[in-house]
Amino acid sequence: MTPVFIVFFGPPGCGKGTQAKKITEELGLTQISTGDLFRKHLGEKTPLGLKAQEYMSKGELVPDDITISMVRERLQEPDVATGAIFDGFPRTGAQAQALDDLLKEFESDVTMVVDFALPIEISRERLMGRQEGRADDKPEVIEKRLNDHQAVEDSVMPHYRGKADLVKEVDAERGIDEIYEDVRALIQSVLN
Ligand code: AMP
Repeated sequence: MTPVFIVFFGPPGCGKGTQAKKITEELGLTQISTGDLFRKHLGEKTPLGLKAQEYMSKGELVPDDITISMVRERLQEPDVATGAIFDGFPRTGAQAQALDDLLKEFESDVTMVVDFALPIEISRERLMGRQEGRADDKPEVIEKRLNDHQAVEDSVMPHYRGKADLVKEVDAERGIDEIYEDVRALIQSVLN
């Protein structure tokens, strides 16, 4: 089976992490969330985790070299052989290019980009109400992450938009189950 590599893209609070978790559980794919990986490193107090925290606590992006080498390492794990869903990666043009280069080792490419479209004010409401107790869900850090998202979009999406039909937009303003129906149909379409 050719592996499938799918990027979930969208503003903080758009639900891409929740959707990635659901679809990977249902279809036996692997979720690669750089935010979760950083939080895991931090929980284990690894040098990488402590370094990442300097940026995460301010709502800033962790530098590309750290992020890319962490993803490179994650892609060595056996559970990636059938493919993966990237959640929160890439977030810069350099990361998007690095992902293409890393996937060449699998003789593969990004199969699809699911773009979770959500107005910024809804994103803000959701993050302010989030009860997960994340250290970076403080109002001032939320504001910074939201403001920076446009720059993230401007640096990542041009990399993909040029490629015919690669980007699929999903209306992320709806409920989890409605969004999931679309997400599942999209992923199924590239698995068959
Ligand atoms: P997330 O869980 O995706 O919202 O990510 C939480 C935080 O982790 C972000 O605000 C960044 O500080 C850091 N982070 C996660 N993914 C990346 C990435 N691809 N590049 C740089 N920093 C990231």
